[in-house]
Amino acid sequence: MASPAPLPPAEAEPGARLVLAEHLLACESAVACARAMVEWLARRSSAAVACLGPGDGGNGSACLASEGLTGSQQAALARAWDAPASPLSSFRTRPGARWLGADALEGVVIPGGFLAVPLGRAGSPAVALLVVGLPGPLVPQDVAWVASCAGPLMARWVAADARAPRRPEPDRLLRRVINAVSDPVLLTDAEGTLLFANGRAEALLVAGPDASPGRARAVEVNQRLFRETLAQGGGTTVHRREVPLVDPLEGMDLLFELVTTPVLAPDGPSVVVSVLRNVTDLGRATQALGESYRRLRATEREARSERHRLDRVLDSVADPIILTDPAGGMVMMNDPAERLFAWPHEEGPSSEATERRVRANAALFASFLANLLGPVNAGVSRWKSQLTLDEPATGAPVPMEAMANKVLGDGGELTGIVTVFHDRTEVLERARLLERVKEVSSELEARVQSATAELAEQNELLRRQAIQLEQASAAKSQFLANMSHEFRTPLNAILGYTNMLLQNVSGEMTPPQRRNLTRIDSNGRHLLEVINEILDITRIEAGRMPLHLTDFGIPELLQEVMAEMDPIIARSKLTVETHLDEGLPGVWSDRQKVKQIVLNLLSNALKFTHEGGVRVAAEYQSATSTVAISVKDTGIGIDVSNQEKIFEDFQQVDSSPTRAYGGTGLGLSICRRLATMLGGRVSLQSAPGQGSTFTLHFPRRARRT
Ligand code: ADP
Repeated sequence: MASPAPLPPAEAEPGARLVLAEHLLACESAVACARAMVEWLARRSSAAVACLGPGDGGNGSACLASEGLTGSQQAALARAWDAPASPLSSFRTRPGARWLGADALEGVVIPGGFLAVPLGRAGSPAVALLVVGLPGPLVPQDVAWVASCAGPLMARWVAADARAPRRPEPDRLLRRVINAVSDPVLLTDAEGTLLFANGRAEALLVAGPDASPGRARAVEVNQRLFRETLAQGGGTTVHRREVPLVDPLEGMDLLFELVTTPVLAPDGPSVVVSVLRNVTDLGRATQALGESYRRLRATEREARSERHRLDRVLDSVADPIILTDPAGGMVMMNDPAERLFAWPHEEGPSSEATERRVRANAALFASFLANLLGPVNAGVSRWKSQLTLDEPATGAPVPMEAMANKVLGDGGELTGIVTVFHDRTEVLERARLLERVKEVSSELEARVQSATAELAEQNELLRRQAIQLEQASAAKSQFLANMSHEFRTPLNAILGYTNMLLQNVSGEMTPPQRRNLTRIDSNGRHLLEVINEILDITRIEAGRMPLHLTDFGIPELLQEVMAEMDPIIARSKLTVETHLDEGLPGVWSDRQKVKQIVLNLLSNALKFTHEGGVRVAAEYQSATSTVAISVKDTGIGIDVSNQEKIFEDFQQVDSSPTRAYGGTGLGLSICRRLATMLGGRVSLQSAPGQGSTFTLHFPRRARRT
């Protein structure tokens, strides 16, 4: 069968009717005529168009050609055309086009209704029926023209077909075959215009006028995607690529492999056959496979880095660690463990002794592990023991504490054993040192105890000696008191009689007698002075010199002192002056003791000063509420080295037998004792050749102690 040339696009050709007419004339079958007609009208009107006519083998009518109608719509139309009671069958005998509403035919819903135009020779029954999905009863000119033009031709070919033996038309057979293909198959022209699509392809890429908005949108998307993919086409060669489409029914994403084969006409490619193969599941499976492969790689990388990390961690641990399998075979060990359980590869070939020690270590370890292995020990999860391994290189013993822990799998099965060794050398050394420290400390303790006992003994001795001394001192004081008394009584008698003799009570004495008697008197007085001072000290020490506190004024006291010292001052030929502070208050203290101290200091000043003078001053120091009475002289002065010593009993700067000054060395020590009783003190400022200043400081108001 010769096929006419493809129809040019209707809108691009003003003489389209002429072209169709020529095309129709070239047709050699009713089907070819019907197809030419339908395609032309479909393009002109953009409406759904079908042409019904006699089917193959005389078994009723069929849809000879259609555009924009589904297979079921086509079949329903053909049935209605054959059904005697159907409004469509009336078109066989009644000429003229008529419009039927959307619901005119049962099972054929063409939204908006359709025009039915009988085709055939004028005055004869219609041989075919043209169906055009138009929404109104007006018959467009194109439809009327096509019917008038194609009707006689259809009649002729239907008659010819009826005469000719019934065999399937090759073109129709091909269409059926293609329709039966389970993959979508499409035929497009060089511009990509869809010429033919089998049922599967139609389901994806064609939407009838009654299609739901969702399906129409999905089909529109599919058409765009398909056109775009096709535009990347392979020119004159077979081309494969993937095209993503949408399932218009379900709305799911689908992936197709598109194989395009250009069918070449002598003057170049005219049509392109496209076969789509649904590879969605394959794509998904590939994607899933890729994903799981990526995951697998990631997991493997993770596991590898975890292993490296574990290795680093294990190697960074100073204690040896060994991982063994359930049978006790060593699986992994860190560097410290290798030093004990592996040959020293790096230091060259190992000696026989080294290997023997490593083997011995391994044997020890194996017997240690036996405590955890085997069904008998299923209940034991960890084992701790102390082993003494050998240092492989030197053979030195290494005391170790080994702790093995079972590693269980998810199902509780034994997957390995981790053993950690801990070197006990340091612990043992520390224990040894501790023991030694304990020994030393107990020795020390014993020594301290004996020293303490000795000390206690000494203390006891000292205490007894102190008591003895106290008793001796008391006895001495008592003795001195008694003796002083015993001395004073006869001495006073001697002095009394001497005085009487000097006053010529027993007659006039010769000058030598008087001179000797004067010496007796002077020495007697000195002796009395010494005895009085000793008596004072004894009384102070024995606590027999109590305080007699009274209110008194310093000026009056100093006046008295000056009066008593007047004969000595007169003899000394020194200038003696007194200076009293203006704000000098009255004091509450022991007047007698203050006077005794000042008298003593003044008599010393006069004794140790040869020229110049003595100044007695009194002032009140309000900040400390104390009174200070100072005696300043321009005498011989005292070296710093002697300034403390002179306050002690019987101490003098010059204590040699040939000393220039008399005295007992008791005056200042009595002054200090008395000042202490008053709650005060005696201070000294002096330098040899520059005079001395002795000052008595005592509280303005004494406290009875
Ligand atoms: P005595 O005057 O009886 O020797 P003291 O206890 O009063 O005993 O004095 C002790 C010594 O202190 C004196 O022997 C003397 O060496 C020294 N001394 C005391 N007062 C003065 C002074 N004003 N100047 C220099 N030396 C002094």
